[in-house]
Amino acid sequence: MICDKFKDECGVLGIYSTASKNLARRVAFGLISLQHRGQESAGIASYRDGKVYHYKEMGLVQDVFNNEILEGLKGHISVGHVRYSTTGESHVSNAQPLVIKYRGENIALAHNGNLINADKIRDKLEESGSIFQTSIDTEVIANLMAKNYSLGFKDAILKTVHEIKGAFALVIICEGKLIGVRDPNGLRPLCIGKLPDGGLVLTSESCALDVVGAELVRDVKNGEMVIIDENGMESILYDDTQPAAHCIFEYVYFARPDSVIDTVSVSSSRRWAGKLLAKEHPVEADIVIAVPDSGIDAAIGYAQESGIPYGIGLIKNKYIGRTFIQPDQETRELAVRLKLNVLKETVKGKRVVVIDDSIVRGTTSKKIVDALRKAGASEVHMRVSSSSVKYPCFFGIDTPNRQQLVSSFKSNDEVKEIIGADTLGYISVEGLLESVGKANCDMCTACFDGDYPMDVPEEVNKNMFD
Ligand code: AMP
Repeated sequence: MICDKFKDECGVLGIYSTASKNLARRVAFGLISLQHRGQESAGIASYRDGKVYHYKEMGLVQDVFNNEILEGLKGHISVGHVRYSTTGESHVSNAQPLVIKYRGENIALAHNGNLINADKIRDKLEESGSIFQTSIDTEVIANLMAKNYSLGFKDAILKTVHEIKGAFALVIICEGKLIGVRDPNGLRPLCIGKLPDGGLVLTSESCALDVVGAELVRDVKNGEMVIIDENGMESILYDDTQPAAHCIFEYVYFARPDSVIDTVSVSSSRRWAGKLLAKEHPVEADIVIAVPDSGIDAAIGYAQESGIPYGIGLIKNKYIGRTFIQPDQETRELAVRLKLNVLKETVKGKRVVVIDDSIVRGTTSKKIVDALRKAGASEVHMRVSSSSVKYPCFFGIDTPNRQQLVSSFKSNDEVKEIIGADTLGYISVEGLLESVGKANCDMCTACFDGDYPMDVPEEVNKNMFD
């Protein structure tokens, strides 16, 4: 097993519109645009006549849903989820939205993020008789909600979000309302959009708003709960005591370039990072190429700043998922070859600068450097538009434990030798923060510097550092 802690990296979407009786189709379309956030399972739950109907299955959105299924999911409130997990508990029972029935009320929950005290709460709840049917954090949230339900749904959610710790962007259907909640640090993104018919949308990334035909209104604030019903939207700032810690890796790798997160365009931040990278690590070369897709914007930025021409040197096979998801090192290495192939005429006899967004285990960079040399590149200069990843993430990005992170215990020179490049340069953490236009205190940069936005319990921490 690659990683012994099971985590979710997901995309969520919820729509409320009294003008529409069948939002499930729209949600399915929106989920397809969030597919990069999770390719393992997909699900939709809709609210109709006081009941929640749902369907979820393993696989891509387009494989999970067909017309007949979507017809059965008619409703004027609909939430959807795409899920990406590490190895182990990859099973449909862990797919979302999670739908529960409590005291006659149907509740659907979709969660993006990772809680750091879920196991502790689960143990406590189990001791007092709660029964769990999945191994996802979301079920802990659902059980806490149920436990507090006598307070009324609003206070039940508020009490719950005060008890859980970690990263969470939630969309919930409860009592005929669509509810969105973002954790107090704003670790995972969640934004609000408006449909031309007045309906409102909540989603992880604004690229999904474009697809469902909504305009971006604003981001859900850190520590905010929004409740949407026929009267519009109510906002409750339930915790404004925590410092903002938006995940910088959303900009580096995870989000789509056409999304705007917390008012910053992902594409622009990547280009800016590329420019700063060129300033921080200049090199004499003939061509700048990108590792597609997430390295493209930074490569264009690097080319613009350095004056070295940009070219297409690697071709990506679009029909396979992200390499990280592969269960073992051998398959992962094979998958890099399957995923990326060199365009020989671009690189032959040239001094090549190759830009990737990150080096994690080093598998991709090593294979790429090797393939570029085999294709006749005279020099290969690796430039990385994120800083060096040295620490695992506990908040919903799948980074392996420190032993498996190639840069954790090695100098840049040693990593350069491992991947076989002539030179290697990462953008500095300061440069990366400048690229997203944020002060250090606004962002979580823990994967680079180990400075986590909250204390990580020892039992969680230990698992990941082994
Ligand atoms: P590695 O091959 O392990 O060094 O991983 C680096 C490659 O994986 C880069 O090309 C990244 O675009 C991509 N990557 C970085 N972070 C992640 C992640 N959390 N999940 C999946 N892929 C990632």
